[in-house]
Amino acid sequence: MRLMIIGPQGVGKGTQSLLLSEALGIPHISTGDLFRSHASAQSDLGRRAQQYLNAGELVPDAVTNAMVADRLSADDTTNGYLLDGFPRTLDQAHWFTETQGPDRDLQAVILLEAPLEELLQRMLARGRDDDQPEIIHRRLELYRTTTQPLLDHYANLLIPIDGTGAVADVHTRILTALTEQAGAVPVGTGEPMALTAASHPTEQKPLWPRPRWTVQ
Ligand code: ADP
Repeated sequence: MRLMIIGPQGVGKGTQSLLLSEALGIPHISTGDLFRSHASAQSDLGRRAQQYLNAGELVPDAVTNAMVADRLSADDTTNGYLLDGFPRTLDQAHWFTETQGPDRDLQAVILLEAPLEELLQRMLARGRDDDQPEIIHRRLELYRTTTQPLLDHYANLLIPIDGTGAVADVHTRILTALTEQAGAVPVGTGEPMALTAASHPTEQKPLWPRPRWTVQ
C-alpha cells in the first residue's frame, strides 16, 4: 500500500509511522530522517541540506526530489511505502505524480492532527537540534502556509485522524481508519488488497473538530 502521513511538527508522525510501517509491512521513508542521516554522514547531499535544516527552512526541491527518487528505487518499496515529510509542497506533489506514474502514486493520505499547545509541549520535551522556540515557530508557519494547498490537492485521499492521547490508541485509530476507508490489510491478516480508483475514499467527514491554525 502506498501511503503518506502528514501533520504538523510534533504531532507524532515519526512514532506512528514506525508502528504503521511494521503493521502494514511497508518501509517508512522520512525525508527529515534521510536529511539528518546524510547531514551526520557529511555526504555531499547532507552538506547541501544542513543550512536549511538548521534554520527550519525547506530544502530546495531539486535536492529533496533527487533524494526521494533514489530512496524509492530500492527493492523494499515494491509493495508500497509510507512517506513521511514528502511531498511537502504542491510542486513536490506534482513532480511525484509525474515521475512515479499512476501505478506508483499515493493511495491514501493520513492527516494526523493535535492542538497547537500539545504540539509545542511535545517538541520542547523532545529537544531535537531544531526544536528551539524560534525554529519551531518557523517550521509551524511553513506548515500552515504550505500544507493547506496539499490537503486540497489530496482531498479525495485524505483520512483525518485525531493525534491526541496514548500512542497505542492513535495507532489503533489509524489502522482502523485505513482498513475501513482505504482497504488496508495489516500483516498476518490476509493478502494485501490492491486499491482501485473506485475504492478510494471520496467523501471524508472530519472525524473530530479541526484545530484552528494560528501561529503567533
Ligand atoms: P519537522 O516536520 O518536525 O520539521 P522533519 O524531520 O519532517 O521535521 O523535517 C526536518 C527538516 O527537514 C525540515 O525543517 C526541512 O528543513 C527538511 N525537510 C524535510 N522534508 C522536506 C521536504 N519534503 N522538502 C524540503 N525540506 C524538507
